[in-house]
Amino acid sequence: MQTFAEELEALRAEGLYRSMRVVKGAQGSRVELDGKQVLMLCSNNYLGLADHPELRSAAVFGVAFGVGSGASRLVSGTMELHDKLEERIASFKGTEKALLFNSGYAANTGIVSALVGRGDAIFSDRLNHASIIDGALLSRADLHRYPHRDTAALERLLRDKGGNGRRLIVTDGVFSMDGDIAPLQDLVRLAKQYGALLMVDDAHGTGVLGATGRGSGELMGVMDGIDIHMGTLGKGLGSFGAYAAASATICEYLVNKARSFIFSTSLPPAVLAASIAAIELVDSPQGKELREKLAANTALFKEKLAQAGFDTMGSETQIVPIFVGPADATMEFSKELLERGIFVQGIRPPTVPSGSCRLRCTIMATHEPAELEEAAGIIAEVGKKLGVV
Ligand code: PMP
Repeated sequence: MQTFAEELEALRAEGLYRSMRVVKGAQGSRVELDGKQVLMLCSNNYLGLADHPELRSAAVFGVAFGVGSGASRLVSGTMELHDKLEERIASFKGTEKALLFNSGYAANTGIVSALVGRGDAIFSDRLNHASIIDGALLSRADLHRYPHRDTAALERLLRDKGGNGRRLIVTDGVFSMDGDIAPLQDLVRLAKQYGALLMVDDAHGTGVLGATGRGSGELMGVMDGIDIHMGTLGKGLGSFGAYAAASATICEYLVNKARSFIFSTSLPPAVLAASIAAIELVDSPQGKELREKLAANTALFKEKLAQAGFDTMGSETQIVPIFVGPADATMEFSKELLERGIFVQGIRPPTVPSGSCRLRCTIMATHEPAELEEAAGIIAEVGKKLGVV
């Protein structure tokens, strides 16, 4: 039997060992790392809200209600701010109700494993987030994974599989490691045609995509065709936590069945207050301005990378992967960029399929165009040196 230490050594030898870096101070478009100022190019804090003064003040207001919620929601941990945030999320998403979860990971495992069980069928895009896959495994339903965004393959599965049980089609709205968008119009049509529920995980679209920031569903004009809108509060919205926005019946069902909701202490008041402020902000002219800045920054950065000859893997959003291939070259790329003042992570298996390692660059509304141009220049220099372009 291999010891833990031997397994760790094997990970190192394969270039798959993972470790953490400490960011000093608050999250922003520039941060201090190992005593040095670097450009932040790997945060999901897309609108820069994680350190926004309005969210900070809201969190301070929230502390007036104490720091802990004391119990799970069904015991005594439901406070006024939980209700208020859920109402705000439901009105933002245009659904009857919304239900909070403690993180996106907890939401996906809880929602998927509650909605389907043994004898039911899940149809899941092959590149869906790990938390969806874990929820599917927990559910014990039959899991049918279709090739990425391949709706013809999905239709064949829907025709052939699933029997008489419940059927759930589940997809990321924006794919977290590729930055492309799910074919939501076709998914809505197929869900209707084959009597399936449609769940969209919009962790990376919420606050960011669509004219009013409601996410990938708004961008594609299909908000009403989605049965379960899952979203997170810790990325574009700058706070922490997650939600399901859906019909009153589905939310009521989740309260009774979702184990990660039932058996976990609820979110604390400061976080709830910050999340309410985040939605207000995203829904205001300031939010629109931030989305426009993010879109302009993203377009500029992609244009510079394309000029340098990089493959950005079909990205359609602020998540901009740079294809490298092998794990060791990807990690070398990331290491050299950090030495040149750019913080961007290499993404390897099991997060992405082997042989498709990449740098995952994420753009923020609060980046200065000039610093993104400079970063693209440095990325091109290092990429050439390492033979990536
Ligand atoms: N879904 C997707 C698509 C994600 O990218 C993530 C976060 N990486 C999650 C869910 C989990 O969200 P959280 O970080 O709030 O647990």
